[in-house]
Amino acid sequence: MKIRKNDLVAVITGNDADLNKSRRVLRTLPSKDKVVVEGVNRVYKHVRPSKRNMQGGRLSKEMPIQQSNVLLFCPSCRRGVRTAVKVEQDGSKFLACKKCSGQLRLIARPKAVRIQG
Ligand SMILES: [Zn+2]
Repeated sequence: MKIRKNDLVAVITGNDADLNKSRRVLRTLPSKDKVVVEGVNRVYKHVRPSKRNMQGGRLSKEMPIQQSNVLLFCPSCRRGVRTAVKVEQDGSKFLACKKCSGQLRLIARPKAVRIQG
């Protein structure tokens, strides 16, 4: 799964779909291929005041959505984009934006690291 916690993503399907809006990933559930995105797929639960929750009222909570319904957000394109793995000359690998080729995240460090001194 490409998406990790604290990544910025754009949601592409569902009620909260907005390709041009960046949202933060709160949690990932790799075994289920799902992610929890801030403010997306929110459910409300009405609770009475209790020992655990003195206030009661309306609690909201984000539910997981399929990771295929989100795209990584590219800051330079300012939208959700498809990604490709890009290998640099030094052997380092990056997750890159398919539109602008901008590097979104380092995947693997260069193979041969020259130690100075
Ligand atoms: Zn881009």
